[in-house]
Amino acid sequence: SPSDGNNLRSPICCIMGHVDTGKTKLLDCIRGTNVQGGEAGGITQQIGATYFPAENIRERTKELKADATLKVPGLLVIDTPGHESFNNLRSRGSGLCDIAILVVDIMHGLEPQTIESLNLLKMRNTEFIIALNKVDRLYGWKTCRNAPIRKAMMKQSKDVKNEFNMKVTQIVTQFKEQGLNTELYYKNKEMGETFSIVPTSAISGEGIPDMLLLLVQWTQRTMIEKLTYSEEVQCTVLEVKVIEGHGTTIDVVLVNGVLHEGDQIVVSGMQGPIVTTIRALLTPHPMKELRVKGSYIHHKEIKAAMGIKITAQGLEHAIAGASLYVVKPDDDLEYIKKAALEDVESVLSRVDRSGEGVCVQASTLGSLEALLEFLKTPEVNIPVNAINIGPVHKKDVIKAGVMLEKKREYSTILAFDVKVTPEARELADKLGVKIFSADIIYHLFDQFKAYMDNIKE
Ligand code: GDP
Ligand code: MG
Repeated sequence: SPSDGNNLRSPICCIMGHVDTGKTKLLDCIRGTNVQGGEAGGITQQIGATYFPAENIRERTKELKADATLKVPGLLVIDTPGHESFNNLRSRGSGLCDIAILVVDIMHGLEPQTIESLNLLKMRNTEFIIALNKVDRLYGWKTCRNAPIRKAMMKQSKDVKNEFNMKVTQIVTQFKEQGLNTELYYKNKEMGETFSIVPTSAISGEGIPDMLLLLVQWTQRTMIEKLTYSEEVQCTVLEVKVIEGHGTTIDVVLVNGVLHEGDQIVVSGMQGPIVTTIRALLTPHPMKELRVKGSYIHHKEIKAAMGIKITAQGLEHAIAGASLYVVKPDDDLEYIKKAALEDVESVLSRVDRSGEGVCVQASTLGSLEALLEFLKTPEVNIPVNAINIGPVHKKDVIKAGVMLEKKREYSTILAFDVKVTPEARELADKLGVKIFSADIIYHLFDQFKAYMDNIKE
């Protein structure tokens, strides 16, 4: 039968939460790498995907003596730089992430982006667990490297235990204020209704075995249907980037199906659908992340679920956040091209065509979508005249310059998580076009609002 649990793909897991709660560090800790230390300012710049094979999970969780059979082949973890990328992790309108880890700093409790992440998870109906990270920062904490959390707790002094219990109680209350029941996972008798909290330290590894086991057990117990492998290719572009020696490549998440070297594929591009052929299918070595430099493994074919780098001709204008389609010999290419366009058009069609408004530019389809949604909310209400995906070039400035004659304050570009070329900057200064750039949506809004208030005075 298709749903007896014998043919499961790996669950896809996202990490979300407020900045600096330790999202990247948690991944580093499970992988045994140090991406966090190598990042500019320690902030995740780009999305990555890491595959954790079942053997690795078994090894890391053996102290828990769970002895439960692992039915999933592994776990595919997406390291999102923030909730904006979560928007990219969709495929044909639905969320692509099977389960999320919501990271909360035990010393800080719920923070603004924790609540934003919560709202996104609710909106997409995504299951999640809560990693209550940085337990090692409790005053007097005794390190028990990589130990299961209950074992580590037994080693702590009475004071540490008290502080821990107090913090947990506070945070459970904060979640309740958000309408959510939460409980330490080993006390949680109503999984599904009550969300599980796993205390962790990404520095010394306490609680990491518990987190891994919980993710795997929970998904394979409750999502058999969703995780049953399907032949039909379901694949989303996460990132488009130039790699030395490979040209423009795309990083994709293959949710279902198989990709082969030589497959004809269709990807949405800014200038229409791109039809091309897979030249190479690359993955990093297991446990390494897609964006970490180093050698790749070449594959003739790859089965889902997996994070893959694809090299092919003509990918320069591919749009991150859009679906990837495979054209099989009997398929109607025109039909598939139309399907590829729909992804983009569903976002483009949200732009008000009144002819008055700012220009909006973002790095990916998902982030553009999130920004447009935000600008439309009644409290914000900023009209948009034009949109684009990718870096801000001179032509974008010229487009924004059109508004100079009509409504000067709208001759503005809101650049979200994209680069502005020096030529574009120069031209903007000359014409009087304003460019605001930020990598957090509400910072863009703050800048624009301050500018508008200034004009009014
Ligand atoms: P992100 O913004 O959520 O990805 O957070 P990072 O992974 O970049 O971590 C932010 C800072 O917190 C870094 O200085 C980390 O070293 C530190 N950090 C992360 N996890 C822990 C933890 O479990 N314990 C302690 N003491 N520090 C942590
Ligand atoms: Mg990070």
